[in-house]
Amino acid sequence: MSVHLKQEEFRLRQEKRKIALKRAKELKARITDYLENKDQIKNGFEVQEQYNRAKQTLLNFFNADNEQWENWHWQMANRIKDVKVISQLIDLSPAEKEAIEKVGRQYRWAVSPYYMALAMVSGSGGPVWLQAIPCIEEVKDRYGVEDPMGEEYTSPVEGVTRRYPDRLIINVTNQCAMYCRHCQRRRNIGEIDVHKSRKVLEGALQYIRENKEIRDVLITGGDALLLSDRQIEWLLTELDNIPHVEIKRLGTRTPVTMPQRITPELCKILENHPPIYINTQFNHPLEVTPEAKKACDMLVKAGVVLGNQAVLLKNINNQPDVMKRLNQSLLTIRVRPYYIFHAKAVKGTRHFITGVDDGIAIMEQLRGYTSGLAVPTYIINAPNGYGKTPVLPQYIIENKNDQVTLRTWEKRIIPYNISGKH
Ligand SMILES: *Cc1c(COP(=O)(O)O)cnc(C)c1O
Repeated sequence: MSVHLKQEEFRLRQEKRKIALKRAKELKARITDYLENKDQIKNGFEVQEQYNRAKQTLLNFFNADNEQWENWHWQMANRIKDVKVISQLIDLSPAEKEAIEKVGRQYRWAVSPYYMALAMVSGSGGPVWLQAIPCIEEVKDRYGVEDPMGEEYTSPVEGVTRRYPDRLIINVTNQCAMYCRHCQRRRNIGEIDVHKSRKVLEGALQYIRENKEIRDVLITGGDALLLSDRQIEWLLTELDNIPHVEIKRLGTRTPVTMPQRITPELCKILENHPPIYINTQFNHPLEVTPEAKKACDMLVKAGVVLGNQAVLLKNINNQPDVMKRLNQSLLTIRVRPYYIFHAKAVKGTRHFITGVDDGIAIMEQLRGYTSGLAVPTYIINAPNGYGKTPVLPQYIIENKNDQVTLRTWEKRIIPYNISGKH
């Protein structure tokens, strides 16, 4: 190679490097706002001191020890459902106390001690508190309907919800470790915890046996992991005996609200019935705690694939930076963000409803700005059970023959001939 060519190559390389450095500077500028904000949006790992203090307050109150705390039966038996207990744990105004009492007469509430400790960390009116503790808006809601999804119209047999060609839901219980204030199925949450009877479950299994196109069965509730280990093992075994069932999914919020439920015994059962997918519901980074991580680690070791279905909730996670921090924190505990659901206007939950604009703004601030793995699909559930409908910011401005006009994550407008012609 001639000296001249070598020089030319060197100059070109320098030129490219210069452009790359300029671009890197531009990209750094894209993240400065988030980096400034991020420190204010704590995840569960960053509030351990406060959490341990709240936990100790609860242990003292129940006169219990750490071993009991770690036992999910203890957590269930000691769920907090009395305003007198809360007011002994945290200072409440008379109005707050009255609101909890009043709502409690109309809607059930109960909080595992573990999630209560997190609620105390988040403080009255904080993002964890709002999900667990009743507020007066619930009974002020004069609009909203009880079953906007028309679930009752999509149940071909008791205990089954079917809205798709190849998959369905079996509803196994109405019980939860914590009754979310934003629950979309509150009409099913009676005053008494009931698991579906063996007869109903047999009926659901029979329906699956007779409908060979069902290859994916989602076990949910309530909370699927509030069934006993024995019941879970029975159900998974029955499903494994149906040749056309390829995968099983469990819907549970226990990794978030009562991670103590994830025991070695349960994991042994799950490990014996692959492939199992578990979708859970983390809604705020404060919920991503060392305990939640331990539960997720155990599930991953048992071969379970973990996903997250967040619900978009006003004053909890309807800001792009909160959702970004949540999804990034989830990836660190090996939970893959799967969906963000737009909350439905279920009676008693309307104070959580946000605009679709909030959801779109969040998606806009995720794509490109952070790992694709941290970008879930934003979903609006169509009325009448017509299914999950994805909603995206508009990335194609024009599409004529092979000529498309793209709008990139940074909002650059770029005409592009996809066939390579000009
Ligand atoms: C959400 C849902 C499913 C699962 O949907 P995916 O998009 O496959 O996760 C299945 N059946 C019903 C009735 C549902 O509501």
